[in-house]
Amino acid sequence: MKVHKIAVIPGDGIGPEVIDEGVKVLQRIAELDGSFTFEFDYFPWGCEYYAKNGKMMDDNGLDILKNYDAIYLGAVGFPGVPDHISLWDLLLKIRKGFDQYVNLRPIKLLNGIPNALSNVPRENIDMLFIRENTEGEYAGAGDWLNKGREDEIALQTGVFTRKGVERIIRYAFEEARKQGKSLTSISKGNAMQYSMVFWDQIFEEVANEYPDVKIDSYLVDAASMLLIKDPKRFEIVVTTNLFGDILTDLGAALAGGLGLAAGANVNPEKTFPSMFEPIHGSAPDIAGQGIANPMATVWSASQILDFFGYEQWGNQVIQAIEKTLVDKKVLTPDLEGSSTTADVGDEIINNLVKIK
Ligand code: ATP
Ligand code: MG
Repeated sequence: MKVHKIAVIPGDGIGPEVIDEGVKVLQRIAELDGSFTFEFDYFPWGCEYYAKNGKMMDDNGLDILKNYDAIYLGAVGFPGVPDHISLWDLLLKIRKGFDQYVNLRPIKLLNGIPNALSNVPRENIDMLFIRENTEGEYAGAGDWLNKGREDEIALQTGVFTRKGVERIIRYAFEEARKQGKSLTSISKGNAMQYSMVFWDQIFEEVANEYPDVKIDSYLVDAASMLLIKDPKRFEIVVTTNLFGDILTDLGAALAGGLGLAAGANVNPEKTFPSMFEPIHGSAPDIAGQGIANPMATVWSASQILDFFGYEQWGNQVIQAIEKTLVDKKVLTPDLEGSSTTADVGDEIINNLVKIK
């Protein structure tokens, strides 16, 4: 029996509440399948840990996590702990430390969720964003000169390495080929004459190796408009760290909001574990009430299944979420329901269909 070891970091606020449901779903799937199993180890890292220990995670946290096949994270951050600590000392430390250079954000409007775009058929909102996750505009390079003076200057430098750009673009081409879909690059070559021209050039170079993949390229401003006016154009999308950050929030809004948006931070070479999480935060306003929507976290469980090669099960999970949405019987308050987090998890499990 194949065993997949998963490090669970429930984190803060609603993190522990939603992660319980994701773990339940994964356990149930392993039972239904019978050919593999998951082993979950829990780590109490996050803001509460910070309050007691002055740090977000164990000093040798990365050494500990290194031995796992995947990391499953609830949410980190809480009022009182500045973002630069909660984010940098845990999330970004793991992303960078484990070279998780691919950020995968599925954007698919499931049946049962209202369509925000009256001009667009709902099935046209179905895409996968692949965001560069380690460099670019968020590399942390720059300077702050002449502080407090009239000639004060803040410089924020985008760092684009050939290695970094090429590997994310290549990953995106592989994904497009595997799925038989088109690939769209989003950049800004007309206004940023170094980094974005370099990005576009590498996109063209790599495209030559994938003549079978249909490609497109848009400026980020045009892409923002087209995502609303004609989202059908977008199937697989590859873009930079900053543009991906912004556009995937727009995408989340198209696909039903934070309660449904999942994200994977992937190290494709599997040198290090990849990390799976809902993209929402710890939602302090509703924490402890048992009413958080676990669907984003369950969706990221489906990404874990895809990542381990159980794509059929990954699809099953999405279908079970969709059935729950369409039935409208068991939903949390954010989706106009009155059920609890655990009820929704149970309902998704009830809606799972055995594959073999
Ligand atoms: P971050 O922690 O990344 O800074 P944030 O504080 O901007 O994020 P969240 O913590 O995600 O945002 O919460 C934003 C709003 O969305 C809150 O009102 C929160 O209650 C709601 N929300 C977030 N996630 C969920 C969820 N899973 N179910 C229901 N409501 C949610
Ligand atoms: Mg928050």
